[in-house]
Amino acid sequence: MALNLIVLGPPGAGKGTQAERLARLRGIPKISTGDILREAVQAGTETGRQAKAIMSRGELVSDDVMIRMVQERLDRADALPGFVLDGFPRTVAQAAALDGIMRERDPLLVVDIEVPEAELVRRLSTRLVCGDCGANAAGGDTVCGRCKGQLVQRPDDSDGVVRERLTVYRRQSAPLVAYYRVRPTFRSINGAQPVDGVFDDLAAAVDALVAGIATPGARP
Ligand code: AMP
Repeated sequence: MALNLIVLGPPGAGKGTQAERLARLRGIPKISTGDILREAVQAGTETGRQAKAIMSRGELVSDDVMIRMVQERLDRADALPGFVLDGFPRTVAQAAALDGIMRERDPLLVVDIEVPEAELVRRLSTRLVCGDCGANAAGGDTVCGRCKGQLVQRPDDSDGVVRERLTVYRRQSAPLVAYYRVRPTFRSINGAQPVDGVFDDLAAAVDALVAGIATPGARP
């Protein structure tokens, strides 16, 4: 069975890091819509030009653009054995469209990483990423662990934009948790702990969800 997983959670919950780790462990792609958009901005494509201003304000790119982008990405051969989605869906409209895209595929599993807001503000305002390859830096790093590039603050992690991104999350993305929570394929985990602890909980949640699907009628 394909492992089709969405990692949900507010900005700063550690979705990207955890999704990357799980994808590597399972040998499936991590698909981050934020990364795809940042690449489009760098490459100067039409989508990138339109998204740049929206992203710098901490707002959301339109559902139409995002749904088309994810549909194209999930249709690529490397996503057929499964994928870990990070940063999508971010609205209920995107989630409904994703249900349509997934109709002929194995079930979608959803894990929400919960972190209190004060902790998110602290993490985002001190987070560093590589200015060259965009990788997240680990605490204490002085250069990028992947390419030795220089570490910088992500432009949308600056103070005012962080608050706007959290407001947007509360308004548009938090309803997603309600959308998925009623499903037997949903779990939430505690993200306010060290990275390795969050990863152990994520891996355990995924195993429980997969076991629940393999045993029809059992609630994971
Ligand atoms: P992220 O790296 O996931 O925090 O995404 C960075 C920015 O890209 C967000 O603040 C949005 O402006 C935009 N973005 C990423 N994913 C989506 C999405 N699914 N829907 C709308 N905008 C998105």
